[in-house]
Amino acid sequence: MQRVILASPRGYCAGVERAVDTVERALQVYGEPVYVRKQIVHNSHVVRGLSERGAIFVDSVDDVPEGATLVFSAHGVAPAVRDAAGARRLTTIDATCPLVTKVHTQARRYAEAGYTIVLVGHAGHEEVEGTTGEAPRAIVLVESVADAEALQLPQAERLAYITQTTLSVDETRAIVDVLRRRFPHIEGPEKEDICYATSNRQSAVKELLSEVELLLVVGSRNSSNSNRLVEVAHAWGVPAYLIDDAGEIDEAWLEGIDVVGVTSGASAPERLVQDVCNWFRGRGVPDIGEQRSVHEDVVFRVPVELRRAARPAA
Ligand code: SF4
Repeated sequence: MQRVILASPRGYCAGVERAVDTVERALQVYGEPVYVRKQIVHNSHVVRGLSERGAIFVDSVDDVPEGATLVFSAHGVAPAVRDAAGARRLTTIDATCPLVTKVHTQARRYAEAGYTIVLVGHAGHEEVEGTTGEAPRAIVLVESVADAEALQLPQAERLAYITQTTLSVDETRAIVDVLRRRFPHIEGPEKEDICYATSNRQSAVKELLSEVELLLVVGSRNSSNSNRLVEVAHAWGVPAYLIDDAGEIDEAWLEGIDVVGVTSGASAPERLVQDVCNWFRGRGVPDIGEQRSVHEDVVFRVPVELRRAARPAA
């Protein structure tokens, strides 16, 4: 092994930064325990770290004691979940990424105007469940080009599409092309709802792929945007592996390899990437550098309810 090239941008996006910060600040403001519905972001290290500091992760609002403090994760929640939290008199803090909230708003507006909405996304993903909950009777889920080809909808219907934020840019474009061909009157956003972070991380990986023989993606198994980075590499014929941390690197992957690319999903802390670099340093790799594609400067403020609660009384 001669060289490791780190993709840039990689790792934490503004939505993840804000969600993690929200739980940390909620612990300071309200004290332990702070409940969090689902994983705050899809990363096992982040969840473990926050658990150790007093966060309790639950699957359902029903698992939270009445009157306790509950944070909604970055992936967003359906209105029914908010109602259930209200019924239990929970103090809620909404860490939904503003870019996910934007998609919820689109779904609501289209549904109120009588549209049928095609949601391009992955069944079972929390973001898709939350968005679908905004307009369950109006939304039809499409996961693939084959789904889009098979979709049966009356042509006269008012029709729109929206997308999950963490999809493959290329695959989504192919799905939307099919929808537009089959339903020329379909309306949609100017640009798909795929967020800046997902699309920038995929572009950065594409720029790296001509130079590397193998790609390592630091991210957890349930991280949608991390899985998409692995798929981007596979689509370009480059072997790629998703690893939660340096401990998952298999030496056998590196046999006969000179140059390895490393990136990380939007929910993976940078320290895990640095651990990977140290793993390679420890094996005598002389050249570890970074290749920057786009500069990111997006920042989201923590939720307003937390800012209010943290404000000292006048
Ligand atoms: Fe928000 Fe995109 Fe990050 Fe998801 S990946 S939290 S949509 S910025």
